[in-house]
Amino acid sequence: MTNALDRLIRALSRLPGLGRRSAERAALALVRRPDLLLDDLVLALQQARQNLRCCDRCGAFTSIDANPCALCTDVSRDDTLLCVVEEPGDILSIERSGGFKGRYHALMGRLSPARQTGPAELRLQALATRVAAGQVREVLLALSTDMEGDATAGFIAEMLRPRGVRVTRLAFGLPADSGVGYSDALTLKRAIGGRMDV
Ligand SMILES: [Zn+2]
Repeated sequence: MTNALDRLIRALSRLPGLGRRSAERAALALVRRPDLLLDDLVLALQQARQNLRCCDRCGAFTSIDANPCALCTDVSRDDTLLCVVEEPGDILSIERSGGFKGRYHALMGRLSPARQTGPAELRLQALATRVAAGQVREVLLALSTDMEGDATAGFIAEMLRPRGVRVTRLAFGLPADSGVGYSDALTLKRAIGGRMDV
C-alpha cells in the first residue's frame, strides 16, 4: 500500500463513526474516481478550513465574516431565554426541531472526570457573564441525560442560583444515556415544551 493511501485511510479512520474498515472503503472509493468524489471533497475541506469557525458569543458554527452568528444577531429571537448545550452540533438539532426561539450557549463539552474536563475547560465563565448582563430570565439546559450531563446541569444550576434566573432542563421522553444530538426533531420539540425546573 502506498504512503499516501495509507495516510488517507488513517486520517479517515480518526473520524467519529468510521472504523479502520469503513475508512478503507471510503478511501478506496475516493481515489478510484477522483473526479467524482475526491476533487469535491478536497474543495469542501479547504473551504471548511478557511471559512468555518465557532461564534464567539454562542459557539454555533458560523462563517468567518459572520461573527457573532445569525442566531445571535437575529432580532426576532427571544433574549430572555438562553439554551445551554454541550456541542455546537446540538444547536443544529434544536434548530431543526423548530421548538426554540431564544438564544444559545454551547459549553464545548461537559464535566467529565474520565476525559479530564473540569469547569475551566468549558465555556462556563462566558455563560455566567452572559447571564450577569441581565437580560436572561430562563436558562434551559439541553444536556445529556447521563451522569456527566447531570453533574454539569447541577454545577450550572448552583453557579447561576445567586443570579435569580429560572434554570430548567429538557423533559426527555427518551431512553437514559442519550443526548440532544441523538434525538429526532419531534422528541426534541416535545422535550423543550415540557421542560422542568432544576
Ligand atoms: Zn452566535
